[in-house]
Amino acid sequence: PGRIQAIPMAPPDKILGLTEQFNVDKNPKKTNLTVGIYKDNWGQVTTFPSVARAQTILDQSFEMNTDLSYLPIKGCPDFRENVLKFLYRDSCPEGVELLDQDRISFVQTLSGTGALAVASKFLSLFISRTVWFPDPSWPNHANVFQNNGFKNINYYTYYKEGKLDVDGWIQDLEKEARETTDEYPPCIVLHACCHNPTGLDPTLEQWRRILDKIQELKMIPIIDMAYQGLDTGDLIKDTYLLRLSLDKNRYQWPNGLFLCQSFAKNMGLYGERVGSLSVVTPSGGDVKHNVDSQLKKIVRGMYSSPPGYGSRVANIVLSTPHLKDLWFEDVKNVAQRLQSVKAKMAERLDWESLKDPSRQHGMFLYTGLNTSSVDILRERFSIYLVQDGRLSLSGLNDSNIDYVCDALRKV
Ligand code: PLP
Repeated sequence: PGRIQAIPMAPPDKILGLTEQFNVDKNPKKTNLTVGIYKDNWGQVTTFPSVARAQTILDQSFEMNTDLSYLPIKGCPDFRENVLKFLYRDSCPEGVELLDQDRISFVQTLSGTGALAVASKFLSLFISRTVWFPDPSWPNHANVFQNNGFKNINYYTYYKEGKLDVDGWIQDLEKEARETTDEYPPCIVLHACCHNPTGLDPTLEQWRRILDKIQELKMIPIIDMAYQGLDTGDLIKDTYLLRLSLDKNRYQWPNGLFLCQSFAKNMGLYGERVGSLSVVTPSGGDVKHNVDSQLKKIVRGMYSSPPGYGSRVANIVLSTPHLKDLWFEDVKNVAQRLQSVKAKMAERLDWESLKDPSRQHGMFLYTGLNTSSVDILRERFSIYLVQDGRLSLSGLNDSNIDYVCDALRKV
């Protein structure tokens, strides 16, 4: 027999596998609270008004000339310019100097996952062998980094007994730094806001302590920003981690700072795969150009060039002032609905985690339910949560919230 006969079955994806099960569930009351896709109060995935208008503009221009040729390897130059301005000028004024000094290497990527894939490939080829994720984290993080050459996958304490544990986090990093024999600097993945799955984020003061330690231990920060705007409803406010990290009076990142950014959630462009990787290089010049050239080579070998349509839509939103304003409103409305779902749950459930709305950030509620309770919810009530007890809030609406909260109380 060939070697192909000996290939073991890969485990199903922890999140998307459940949707496959949900799709064949016959219960009319079935409720999918697994995947992080925003749904409105009618259970629909609707296009953001700003994005729909940008699509109309784009479609009209397509009527004259449907340009479906390849984008350049590193993406559309207009997209690059507008995203850089949005991220490093509007969201993070600390970045303007970096733009002026041409220190930011940028690639348009296949959404946030693609940014993480290109970043991890680059880092494993040239700089690092070890990566740290929070425990728990988005399950695909380890998968992406392993697929792209990372040998050592470590987890730092993040969550303990329903709370964020910053002391435990810092102790883990210190302990490893004392004991390691690894000559390569380790990377650390930081969720920019709306930590997935716990919804718990450090305060600014806690972030400073953490960043101080990361700098002291010569680690490489990788900021994963998949939920910008979905915390406070304000895209700019939610970019605090990038702003803190780029405080030049406090931090220098000799091996660069990596930002993996996604428009999936905050423009509702999930399937269009629109996002970016930017690498803030320590000095610009040759270093930056060499990084540029290697990122380009990686992309060429990985998927050749990014898809065009979604990035053209995002580019129109970002570069048309009234659509950009409308987009900010759209994001605010999304965050407000998520907050109102939490408030409605709090009226129905006497849960500690719901009492203080400032505790849980973003699209998810980390219920603290164990695996067997999650199984009961699914098997008896056809309510689907991720196995770790993560519940996607926007799957709740006026027509199912009573049913779901009743079931949650029962289990
Ligand atoms: N990072 C985190 C923490 C996420 O939760 C997600 C999506 O769920 C992503 C990155 C990447 O998402 P996408 O590739 O759709 O932009």
